[in-house]
Amino acid sequence: MSEASPFDVEATRKDFPFLEREIRGQQVAFLDSAASSQKPRAVIDAVSEFYATSYANIHRGVYQLSAEATEKYEGARDQVQHFLHAEDRREIVFLRNATEAINLVARAWGDENLQPDDEILITALEHHANIVPWQMLSERRSCRLRVAPIDARGEIDLNAYESLLSERTKIVAITHVSNAIGTINPLPEMIAMAKARGITVLVDGAQAVPHMNVDVKSLGCDFYTFSGHKLFAPSGIGVLYGCHSMLESMPPFLGGGDMIETVTFEKSTYAKSPGKFEAGTPDIAGAIGLSAAIEYLKGFDQAQLERWETGLLTYAEKRLSELDGLRIIGNARNKAPVVSFVVDGVHPHDVGTALDQSGVSVRVGHHCAQPLMEIFEVPATVRASFSIFNTPSEIDRLTQALSETMEIFR
Ligand code: PLP
Repeated sequence: MSEASPFDVEATRKDFPFLEREIRGQQVAFLDSAASSQKPRAVIDAVSEFYATSYANIHRGVYQLSAEATEKYEGARDQVQHFLHAEDRREIVFLRNATEAINLVARAWGDENLQPDDEILITALEHHANIVPWQMLSERRSCRLRVAPIDARGEIDLNAYESLLSERTKIVAITHVSNAIGTINPLPEMIAMAKARGITVLVDGAQAVPHMNVDVKSLGCDFYTFSGHKLFAPSGIGVLYGCHSMLESMPPFLGGGDMIETVTFEKSTYAKSPGKFEAGTPDIAGAIGLSAAIEYLKGFDQAQLERWETGLLTYAEKRLSELDGLRIIGNARNKAPVVSFVVDGVHPHDVGTALDQSGVSVRVGHHCAQPLMEIFEVPATVRASFSIFNTPSEIDRLTQALSETMEIFR
């Protein structure tokens, strides 16, 4: 990997207090950011300062603390609006996570707009979060779930995808980036093909937002979802972007406080979006933490971060391919910093446990993408995923520990 990279990874590492932690006497090499990211000091401080100095419930209070909390929570909405390049702050709905956001659309939009025999199109790369809600919707509405195939590299077969779009297709729900094998989907082409036929598009951006600039306006999707916890923010806060006219046309998902305009025992009327979709007390501190995470990321040059992470991916693929008996799963030409692999004769769980002995944290399993594992004919993989604080020397540690593990099992 290029030593000439101007990105100062050592300074970045100082921002992440978890790196002071030792596992089995060694500094942890955390290679599982795709599951959930570690948190920089800026986020931890923003959340603890909020709890220590200005905590109160939002929207309802007439007193100073509540006004301050409301201002911070609504400020976080503005922050996310600019982060996604959305046109209007009312297009940003705070929820628990990407899973809840997809379920909201499947329920609130899907139940209203799908008729028997209509079709929903997903891809073979989806996380269970972008499969199961559509299966449940298909059952409720007697619809059909169709799946766009991938090729041996793990890239979408665009011709097959296009041929699956028909007048029956009512929504396309596609991942921006595969969590299991890292493929970055060609969203502009895929969205344009769907939009040319008037089809609604939802993008699952859970694995994209930590690694690339996302512009929902230029993508032209109707919905975009992500979880804060993969973007250096706390767990418990997630985002649904929905284009304003779409959100306004949808009924609420959950009923309760804060989502209403008026309530009588006979009938309630609802607030406008996004309030209509934020019933009950939300994760106020989570939203503030998310805003701090985005602010933290704004301190970097995005292109530099992407170069650093791509460099890590390239280096990891090179080092891993030196190991005889190790096979990388997913070789898409355009990949996020995620590398999935299997080792001959050693179950991924054994690999993961052995790596942990060396202080190397990786993910093992089906990565909530069981159908994708079936396509590659593996029960599970080992997955190393990289973030802005990772270094080539951590990849050397991964390679060394893998080599020793493979020796033991040989
Ligand atoms: N979509 C993708 C691509 C993911 O990787 C994940 C989580 O791993 C999800 C959706 C679901 O995210 P969450 O569990 O935060 O709702």
